Amino acid sequence: MKINKKKLVIGNWKMNIFSVKEAKKLMEGIKKGSLKVRNTDIVICPPFVYISDLMSLVSKKLFLGVQNIFEEMNGSYTGEVSVQYLAQFKVSCAIIGHSERRARGESDTSISKKVARALEAKITPVFCIGEASRDEHGEYLAFIKNQLSLGLSLVSKAQIGDVVIAYEPIWAIGGKEAMNSHQVHEMSLYIQKCVKEMCGTMVMMPRILYGGAVTADNAREIVDQGFVDGLLVGRESLKVENFLGIITNVDLIK
Ligand code: PEP
Repeated sequence: MKINKKKLVIGNWKMNIFSVKEAKKLMEGIKKGSLKVRNTDIVICPPFVYISDLMSLVSKKLFLGVQNIFEEMNGSYTGEVSVQYLAQFKVSCAIIGHSERRARGESDTSISKKVARALEAKITPVFCIGEASRDEHGEYLAFIKNQLSLGLSLVSKAQIGDVVIAYEPIWAIGGKEAMNSHQVHEMSLYIQKCVKEMCGTMVMMPRILYGGAVTADNAREIVDQGFVDGLLVGRESLKVENFLGIITNVDLIK
């Protein structure tokens, strides 16, 4: 299943839901609330173990994603999950290179293979980038450019429009305050510039999401004035009301 080009709000449950009952309740609540949503695709990324319990709740607006994939298709890789497993569970996208995984040693090489593998399997890669801190001299921009060129190194010009780039400044993730919409806009323009330098100006642009301390209160301004295509949400995706508040506010944007 391919997600179309509406606004996109992705919820990453991480390792925070601990029963099938809880997972179903959360997804059912989001599905109910999503009935009124018109212009926004919603993706829930639960822990792998709940995917099969949640697949019956997938709809034209509500999709399932995963929080990671493995870079190889098959073989002796104990504990890893191949993209080959995912189609049968209606999984349409995969978060790749989240900063929490990078912090535990996931390399750019592995991330680039995962992005390519996802595209090969017709799963939308949600490729995460973001600097740990900012400096006065703008070195973080070179850092972002490098992350982009390494992570997208195996993506062809024809495929680049099928990638979703999630820009998540690490200093905002899990924090109290999101980046302001002006800075989000600057980064969205910068990422587009880097992609054009890498792939040329004639290619279809990847969608760009912002992630880091998004709430129902700041979601609309970030997307509308930050000129991004949507949001990647951590903590606030764990409560139906809060997550639906984010989705509804994004959906109001013309
Ligand atoms: C994240 O971990 O990707 C994230 C955006 O988290 P939070 O929304 O909780 O800041």
